[in-house]
Amino acid sequence: MKIYCQELSTVELTRKSIDVLQLNLGMVCNQACIHCHYSAGPKRTEVMSAETCKKVLAYLESNNIPTIELTGGAPELNPNFKDIIRRVRAIDRKVVVRSNLTVLFEDGMEGLPQFHADNSVDLVCSLPCYLEQNVDAQRGEGVYRKSIAAIKVLNELGYGVEGSGLNLYLVYNPGGAFLPGDQASLENDYRRNLKETHGIVFNHLYTITNMPIGRFAKQLNALGKYDEYINLLKDSINLDLLNCAMCLSLISVGWDGLIYDCDFNQALNLPIGGRQRKLWDFSLDEIIETPVILGGHCYGCIAGRGSSCTGALN
Ligand code: SF4
Ligand code: SF4
Repeated sequence: MKIYCQELSTVELTRKSIDVLQLNLGMVCNQACIHCHYSAGPKRTEVMSAETCKKVLAYLESNNIPTIELTGGAPELNPNFKDIIRRVRAIDRKVVVRSNLTVLFEDGMEGLPQFHADNSVDLVCSLPCYLEQNVDAQRGEGVYRKSIAAIKVLNELGYGVEGSGLNLYLVYNPGGAFLPGDQASLENDYRRNLKETHGIVFNHLYTITNMPIGRFAKQLNALGKYDEYINLLKDSINLDLLNCAMCLSLISVGWDGLIYDCDFNQALNLPIGGRQRKLWDFSLDEIIETPVILGGHCYGCIAGRGSSCTGALN
């Protein structure tokens, strides 16, 4: 099925397959980071209900999507979090949890790292710098120290340790209105600094571009830098990267079961095909054949070295 890009009207894309289903378990988060494209935080109340979880799981049982990514907010705060992981693992699908790390120290989270290890969950964890002041400026005071403490706990269980089979990925995003640097060089810097300073290890670093939406857009507007940032993105695009944009192999399901082409379209309330429909209203073939909704925010995925849930695109 051909997908036509509206903003970049000369570009034509083909959706390939659905390899990843990203499930947003709710907007509640123990943090309120200044770059959050969902504007998630402790005051949000939206949470995926047990009934919706049940319907999503039934869909997964009858449709072979190989990887399920749990996200939010902080997905761990959904009361059905562990049950979802158990059931997804029981049907032999890979589970990835996108975690902010600090949530591991919230009440009720005791034993969660061991649970992850027991279920071979891959962890993709935010750590936007190896320096304390930069992390705390973006994510809140004290976040760096807690994040490092959480990584130490995970390392002790084998996460990030070569040969353990337990994968720990860290995520960098810029601390302002600029694009990420080279992913491989930054990964080397992280590896050296975190090992020397804290004795901690990880598998790989993903660099992600800040999307000009949600709380980051508000911050850009407050600083009078919104237009400047949009121009930076536009001036840096590489159209070839659209051929590997994550929306070509991923779908995003909201806390209420509504389905989107990606996390960013969900944040912008742009449902798949322009119609509000739930996951279980679609067959996988229909999803593959439904054109992706593209907009100005898509420049964020193809600017510079590109950006996706698994980091740079080239
Ligand atoms: S960026 Fe992540 S950790 Fe920060 S508020 Fe948003 S969901 Fe929470
Ligand atoms: S924001 Fe990125 S992933 Fe989402 S539709 Fe646009 S190009 Fe695709």
